[in-house]
Amino acid sequence: MRLILLGSPGSGKGTASCQLADRLGVPRIVTSDLLKEQIKKGTEIGLTMSSYMERGDLVPDNLVISVVVDSITPLVGFILDGFPRTLGQAKALKSKLHELGKPIDKAIFLDVSLETAKARNLKRSICKVCGFSPMPHETTCSRCGGDLTKRVDDNEEAIARRFTNYIRDTQPLVDFYKSEGILLQIDANLSVEDVRIHLFEALSLQ
Ligand code: AMP
Repeated sequence: MRLILLGSPGSGKGTASCQLADRLGVPRIVTSDLLKEQIKKGTEIGLTMSSYMERGDLVPDNLVISVVVDSITPLVGFILDGFPRTLGQAKALKSKLHELGKPIDKAIFLDVSLETAKARNLKRSICKVCGFSPMPHETTCSRCGGDLTKRVDDNEEAIARRFTNYIRDTQPLVDFYKSEGILLQIDANLSVEDVRIHLFEALSLQ
């Protein structure tokens, strides 16, 4: 299965992509992890990417698209977490997957109120090993047992920029995928378990 996860920062894309990857046995392609791999290489492009990411801005399309497209080209199934985030990325993805004969099955929109999402971002920790975001009271990752850390961009200023960018650049993709006839909208204001139940039901995975 080839899935896209759409939603604001704090909508639960990371959690949902872990649950789906575990259930379906297909890899999660986490865009920010791919970008961090580029940054680790210490190239000039990596440095540019890192400055965008730290302040909560989107990395320009021309730098992101090839990184993601290269990583999914050999795969049959995948869950895309954090891509596409602009109309340009969505169109490039559609055209590449059309060329490969491997279209997206569903774009899942995790629909959450901005207040809930902002509150989640401020108090969340993420696993250093698998990227899962466990419940706030957990001290180690409830998925893999890894140590937890805070994200550098989970501060008030970067969160505000990420939401502005989300509303301007990414929210229009909901209508794009609706018009493509593959949008699944899930109420993501609920508990982690209730969101999972609705998500799995919507994908007939029970
Ligand atoms: P995330 O972990 O998905 O919240 O992404 C963290 C940061 O990585 C974002 O704030 C952007 O700076 C960058 N990023 C992730 N995905 C994309 C994308 N599709 N396009 C541009 N920048 C991205």
